Amino acid sequence: MSHRLGRMSKPTKVLLDESRIPRAWYNIAADLPAPAPPPLHPGTRLPVGADDLAPLFPASLIAQEMSSERYIAIPDDVVDVYRLWRPTPLVRARRLERALGTPARIYYKYEGGSPSGSHKPNTAVPQAYYNAQEGTRKLTTETGAGQWGSALAFACAQYDMECEVWMVRASYDQKPYRRSLMGVYGATVHASPSQVTEAGRGVLAAEPDSSGSLGIAISEAVEVAAASPDTRYALGSVLSHVLLHQTVIGEEAIEQLAVLGETPDLIVGCAGGGSNFAGLSFPFLREKLAGRMDPVVRAVEPAACPSLTRGTYAYDFGDTAGFTPLLKMHTLGHGFIPDPIHAGGLRYHGMSPLLSHMYELGMFEAVAKDQTECFEAGVRFARAEGIVPAPEPTHALAEVVAEALRCKESGEPKVILTALCGHGHFDLAAYDRYLRGEMQDFAIPQERLDAALAALPAV
Ligand SMILES: *Cc1c(COP(=O)(O)O)cnc(C)c1O
Repeated sequence: MSHRLGRMSKPTKVLLDESRIPRAWYNIAADLPAPAPPPLHPGTRLPVGADDLAPLFPASLIAQEMSSERYIAIPDDVVDVYRLWRPTPLVRARRLERALGTPARIYYKYEGGSPSGSHKPNTAVPQAYYNAQEGTRKLTTETGAGQWGSALAFACAQYDMECEVWMVRASYDQKPYRRSLMGVYGATVHASPSQVTEAGRGVLAAEPDSSGSLGIAISEAVEVAAASPDTRYALGSVLSHVLLHQTVIGEEAIEQLAVLGETPDLIVGCAGGGSNFAGLSFPFLREKLAGRMDPVVRAVEPAACPSLTRGTYAYDFGDTAGFTPLLKMHTLGHGFIPDPIHAGGLRYHGMSPLLSHMYELGMFEAVAKDQTECFEAGVRFARAEGIVPAPEPTHALAEVVAEALRCKESGEPKVILTALCGHGHFDLAAYDRYLRGEMQDFAIPQERLDAALAALPAV
């Protein structure tokens, strides 16, 4: 390399060849000091077995959910679809660093270049693949902001499967173009709560103007999948097999940082159900457990839906109607309906049971942010780096900016790594609201949390 390039000779991004797409997912369950508490059957309250889950998920995904193998091979067919956008770039946010005047070195792993614009296809594709292998003809699911619905619709199109999506009413009305994208990929989309299911009709009877929630939409999608033998359900976050599939993010990032000779001091990710945060951080936590590096790992959640920072670690339902197994997780209560913040993908009452367990073990930290601070960071990032982030990763960026400014105070040149897990091209209406000064923050009074938690199932 020529030294004439001076400053320019330090790479701004690291791109890996297609041959570097990981061939195995990393299962952190193999390396934990104790296993996470098992899901319980909602009727018997005994640990669920593979048979209990068979109406909803194919056997191979159930096996992954329960596996304690350290590495699970990625099928060639899935790697072949991953080639469309993986490996994803690791980018140094030099212009943001300069704008902040920080000595910190900030890196982001950009997942927004996937077909549907987020990290979600990393799991949608293998989920569709294993279902197709086992004869599933249709997948049902819920979607909040529409990211998961569009990822699954794309994945189903790869394997000639039908896809039926329940989209939270608030997003269905606010984000018509995510709905259109699902239509382009061939999916059928309902606003949730809908008249199509008993769960939806029940909610509408009690509250005709319901803006919906992920918990309600899950009830609807699960009800339809459970009722028909060739239809199964797919979840875009929360479950261990979903987190597993996302570890391609962290595996690539480890290799990319090694190219630069960097090791992270701080890893920051936004957490709704926890999949992009886990996908980035788990491979680094493996390295940390092995004593090869020592990053601080920090999750960022919305102050309007603070399951880790203000929830209770208890068994609760994954959905509103109480159809799903009971999951031991940090929860705000399955009846908690978050205020309509723009980061729809973070509006979930619970947190992944695996991450919840690891949080109890002290393996990572969590902070909560108000959405105006997040959008401020999102706009700052866009003006410096060019990419308009989805509202969800602006939560991580707000913490990255805060940490970079702390580094400016202390003079510490920390290496900060984050996942820019999606672009915000379908979220420009939310940015408009922010720019017009119309965006509001929602403070949750403790009584509201107490009321929702009072309805936790007895175990
Ligand atoms: C779905 C989504 C999230 C939230 O889900 P996690 O499982 O917590 O990652 C965050 N960001 C984007 C862009 C999403 O699409």
